[in-house]
Amino acid sequence: MPDMTAMVLDRPRSSLVLRERPIPTPGHGEVLIAVSACGVCRTDLHVVDGELSDPKLPIIPGHEIVGRVIEKGNDVAALAIGSRVGVPWLGATCGICPYCVSGRENLCDRPLFTGYTRDGGFATHTLADARYCFALPEATDAAALAPLLCAGLIGWRSYRMAGQGASLGLYGFGAAAHILAQVAVWQGRRVYAFTRAGDEAAQTVARRLGAVWAGGSDEHPPEALDAAIIFAPVGALVPAALRVVKKGGRVVCGGIHMSDIPQFPYHILWEERQILSVANLTRQDAHEFLDIAPRAGVTTQVSRYPLAHANEALADLREGRLQGAAVLIPS
Ligand SMILES: [Zn+2]
Ligand SMILES: [Zn+2]
Repeated sequence: MPDMTAMVLDRPRSSLVLRERPIPTPGHGEVLIAVSACGVCRTDLHVVDGELSDPKLPIIPGHEIVGRVIEKGNDVAALAIGSRVGVPWLGATCGICPYCVSGRENLCDRPLFTGYTRDGGFATHTLADARYCFALPEATDAAALAPLLCAGLIGWRSYRMAGQGASLGLYGFGAAAHILAQVAVWQGRRVYAFTRAGDEAAQTVARRLGAVWAGGSDEHPPEALDAAIIFAPVGALVPAALRVVKKGGRVVCGGIHMSDIPQFPYHILWEERQILSVANLTRQDAHEFLDIAPRAGVTTQVSRYPLAHANEALADLREGRLQGAAVLIPS
């Protein structure tokens, strides 16, 4: 077989380097996937920027993988050669820890995470544990599906944690929010989009996707909200969101990393407001969301980059130059 091409991180806070490697052979329970598209998530940025501890190094980032199974290891019954699959952040779990056996595999004590503790999809090929891959529809463009694999899945888990209230605030109108806003509007909820102050472009996108209001994260919406989800990695948004949710309201932190939360007065938490965080995803979350996304008519806005331009895609995400999601395409 010819070699594969990958964008590799040798150490945090350095640029990814393009490398040729032999194509790996799938082991027991694994599949070899030819990557069609891989989304670039803020978590990739946290890995590259050294904000998450102890990545496997060198590491191939990327955990929003859409591709085709081209080879199977032993004991892979579920996936056929040639089938289109998605590979998410949750790469493997132990199956025996207290979290795994109680239906909370997202909190597994000994997990593997795609593009963090096992190699991911910024590459032409990748290996994955077949049990953590999901069948994906053939009709949709691969690049358009990629953001569903993390922004969609972990966004969905955050959305469920936010509860059933009719009014929902979304802080940070990037890949996750633009997907979740469509689900919320489809379910008849009122969406309030909070962006960086003065980010007219993001506010316009939010209104186009059905948000009833869009403004800066320093602004107060015209009604008190049942819940808010924070996707931006900015701790100062926690007290800001607490100030706009009503009594009993929830503030859900949807990211894996956030800057420190500034001190705030107890009275903005009082009256049974709650702050929650969301970690990772379960396969159940994925099955639910991949079922609901097409029914809700979710479409994604993507910016395509050639695989070799991964550093440019990361920089555009870091600097807030993107609308929607960046997706790498191996040539
Ligand atoms: Zn476990
Ligand atoms: Zn992600």
